[in-house]
Amino acid sequence: MCASVVFCSTICERLANKGFHRVECPVLEVLFRNGASVNCLLAMRIVSQRHYSFFNDKKNKLKDYLKDNCKKNIIKKQNYRFDDYDNVFFLCRNEHLRSKDDLTHYACMSIYLLRLLKAAKYFPFEVEDEVLTNDEAYIGGLILRHLQLLQFNAHEISELINNKKVVLEVGIQARYENVTIGAGLYPTLALFNHSCDPSIVRYNIKNKMVVRTIKPVKSGDIIYENYGPLYMTQPVQERQDILKKNYWFECLCIPCVEIWPTFNEMHENELRIPCATEQCPFVFSVRTEDDPFLTCDYCKKMTSILPAVKGLMVLDEILPEAEELFGKGDLDNAMRKFLQGLEILYKYTRPPHPEIIKVQHRIRVCMIHKGNKSYDYKFLDIV
Ligand SMILES: [Zn+2]
Ligand SMILES: [Zn+2]
Ligand SMILES: [Zn+2]
Repeated sequence: MCASVVFCSTICERLANKGFHRVECPVLEVLFRNGASVNCLLAMRIVSQRHYSFFNDKKNKLKDYLKDNCKKNIIKKQNYRFDDYDNVFFLCRNEHLRSKDDLTHYACMSIYLLRLLKAAKYFPFEVEDEVLTNDEAYIGGLILRHLQLLQFNAHEISELINNKKVVLEVGIQARYENVTIGAGLYPTLALFNHSCDPSIVRYNIKNKMVVRTIKPVKSGDIIYENYGPLYMTQPVQERQDILKKNYWFECLCIPCVEIWPTFNEMHENELRIPCATEQCPFVFSVRTEDDPFLTCDYCKKMTSILPAVKGLMVLDEILPEAEELFGKGDLDNAMRKFLQGLEILYKYTRPPHPEIIKVQHRIRVCMIHKGNKSYDYKFLDIV
């Protein structure tokens, strides 16, 4: 019996008690009471879930990489496996951008976590409290590295809850919210780069991460993740500020470079139609009342907007049906219809377009309902 933790199931409890929790149990309360972040706990958990001998066996291979300004090439594997610790070890840490202050801060935290592990008797040898052996310092170095890489690579683990009040999301009323209940490190998902117009939706089934596409993806396309800010709800400067502060990079995604409007700034009857010439990247911005024949700025050839206007008319049938299914809570069939609609939208138009955003939003809601839900969650919708 332990008063510091709650497990979601007896399976998780059994696994924890055989592994990491046996190590962490005596020190968890201290860690929580000191207000440690979830990344602190994860940095320790990467260690505590494995036996000391696992890391000790890797010491000769990894110890050089723990030195400051290590110039050695990283170890590349033929097959990238999510459960291979080496892939965790080499995740991005932006070490070249770190200041002395930052390094001191993380070093102090790793010393603290190392001391907790020591107090929890993680090490299979007894050493006096004041003495730091090389073996312990090596584990401390790993913890420091974990803290740094978790800063940029950890993901939230979430579940659906009912919102007390109705909120407006991209012009759609919603009564549900996907809230964070924890965090985890998923070394494959961690490789995905960010876009303010992401290609995927992610949700959790227990602690597993499910990733599904939210737009048509062709072979060879880059699949983008999202680190928080989205072009439809936040203006470009706000997004840039958030990404710079939290992830230390300047976003060069298409919505940021082309300064796409937010959902509220868009015109309902403006269409963005791709040039009909194959391989031509040009996109026309037109209103339905404009001249239907347009000359491309790039390839100088003519495009008619009439096939697009005609093709999009099918949506007048599909989308109301999808909405009806959605309103009844038949989310699987609603999602199928919305996906059909999305395919048609992408065939004839290009984002930013309010209809694409609304349909993607509905698909996202259908998808996340496949994931974790709070024990008292009920699907309630207002169409
Ligand atoms: Zn315990
Ligand atoms: Zn961006
Ligand atoms: Zn063209």
